[in-house]
Amino acid sequence: MRDFLCAMLIAILGGATLSAAPSSHETGLPPSKSILTVLCYHNIDIRSPKNSPYSVTSAQLTDELNALKAAGFDFVSLEQVQAFYASGKPLPSKSALITFDDGHENIYEHAYPILKKMNIPWLLFVFPTAIGGGHEKGFMNWDEVQQLNKEGVAIGSHSFDHPYLTRPGKEISTPEAYDAWLDKELIRSKRLIEDKLGSPVNAFASPFGALNNVVQQHIKNAGYSLAFNIFGSNNDALNNPLELNRIIVLSTHSPEMVVKKAEERPLHFTKEFPGSLQVYTGMLATAGFSLEGIDDYIPGSIQVLINGTRIETLKENGSSFMFDVPAPGRSKGYIVTVYARGRSGEIFSQSYYFIYATKKPDFLKLAPAKT
Ligand SMILES: [Zn+2]
Repeated sequence: MRDFLCAMLIAILGGATLSAAPSSHETGLPPSKSILTVLCYHNIDIRSPKNSPYSVTSAQLTDELNALKAAGFDFVSLEQVQAFYASGKPLPSKSALITFDDGHENIYEHAYPILKKMNIPWLLFVFPTAIGGGHEKGFMNWDEVQQLNKEGVAIGSHSFDHPYLTRPGKEISTPEAYDAWLDKELIRSKRLIEDKLGSPVNAFASPFGALNNVVQQHIKNAGYSLAFNIFGSNNDALNNPLELNRIIVLSTHSPEMVVKKAEERPLHFTKEFPGSLQVYTGMLATAGFSLEGIDDYIPGSIQVLINGTRIETLKENGSSFMFDVPAPGRSKGYIVTVYARGRSGEIFSQSYYFIYATKKPDFLKLAPAKT
């Protein structure tokens, strides 16, 4: 089955065509305003299927990394990002963290030499079922993951079996069974990777970016200090370290597009309705959000995209914005991405995500959304 969430993200990235902003080092922002962009790659030089949007070529990867460097980005390690969020240790004003999901063999073969040669720290998210299958299944084996880790590559958990954590199998029908299943995916994977590496695993990336507020709570309880989604915006000191945004880099992106997206500054909500990662049932006619620091943005510059499609009519009241909710598509998920233009011409963006369910799933113990 095609991944609808990823399809929506492609649409969002495709739709993000506001014109280029001056880069932040030109605008002389203080270090507390550092941007952290986290790029998410999957495959490098995949042989089959050809034209997979999730596989970039070695040349594309090299060009994108060089373009980020030329635009003033510093590549940072997972450790630096952890210290930034745990104790406020400053990050460079334009920081980029490079991540790879899934642990495909082609990453070891093709991406690793490039990153090593360019001396760029990176973070690899693996799931034990894949690495246990190793080369026969097209993945790295544990020896290779261990070797990378010894050479300084950070390893994170990408769950145990790579399921949609928001859609358990039919056998899971109670909140208790859902809790136990999430614990397996989140805690058992963490412990197994830690045992294999002999070092702690502190970062988590949810398969397919699938999240709800129960999954989010379990990520926290499992002891991860950083967790990453794929909602396509950037981060600063105000982002929740358990909800860090990543940008998926696709084969269709040019280095210029990657830099442009990486330079968008994060904006922040004081409130979203429905709340981020909330599952709501029943009719929901309108949704909306309130923006922090509304005076930082040029009046009238706020734009809202839902799953990549622009909302034409936005009801504005001070710092609050409301819009009609389109009918839920097959994905039943809504990624709301808000763009604004800052006073110096820079682009700001941020996304949040909520889910529509025709009825409250039995495995969830959620209060119904207030309407
Ligand atoms: Zn994955």
